[in-house]
Amino acid sequence: MKVTLGPARAGDECLSSNLLVGFVNTRVHGKQAEEQLTDGAAVAKWFQAVDAGDSADATDADAATARELRDALLGILRAHVGCDEGVAMVAESEAHLQRAALRFPVTTVVTAQGCELHPTGTGVDRSFSHLLSAVADLASRGAWRRVKVCKNDTCYTAFFDKTRNSSALYCSTTCSGQMATRAYRERKKECAAR
Ligand SMILES: [Zn+2]
Repeated sequence: MKVTLGPARAGDECLSSNLLVGFVNTRVHGKQAEEQLTDGAAVAKWFQAVDAGDSADATDADAATARELRDALLGILRAHVGCDEGVAMVAESEAHLQRAALRFPVTTVVTAQGCELHPTGTGVDRSFSHLLSAVADLASRGAWRRVKVCKNDTCYTAFFDKTRNSSALYCSTTCSGQMATRAYRERKKECAAR
């Protein structure tokens, strides 16, 4: 993955954001009833479809690794919308991703124009390295915090926040509308109870 020639603005979608949002959305959430990374073959198929490494050799153990990596990313994405599951949970996700970074390193390619981060390794390890290089790419452009998970608890879909000030908490106006309606009803109920 080439990363220096990213989008002009941090709020633009790019290969890196699409890869990460797509990867986190392989799990069961409000818009998808079935797990996509069930086994090695499914993992191979998914990474092949997004052109992120040749993971034809992926095993069921690799599928478990993929799901763990996804959970850790999800923990960070939840922190990006201010979900207050506690410092410990974020720290756990961060620790997992640091261990993953040692297993699936990325490498710097320095040129006169800048520095590109490329995935390393072969097979499915390279696919996992693609994910981490995508995070590094977004972070280098100030866009990592824009990768979020919808705060609507019937949705939880990962999305890329394209708002100017990076303030979105929901994946769509449908979700923000649902949450606003719910908050309004709760307030009304509270008033009636008083
Ligand atoms: Zn949503």
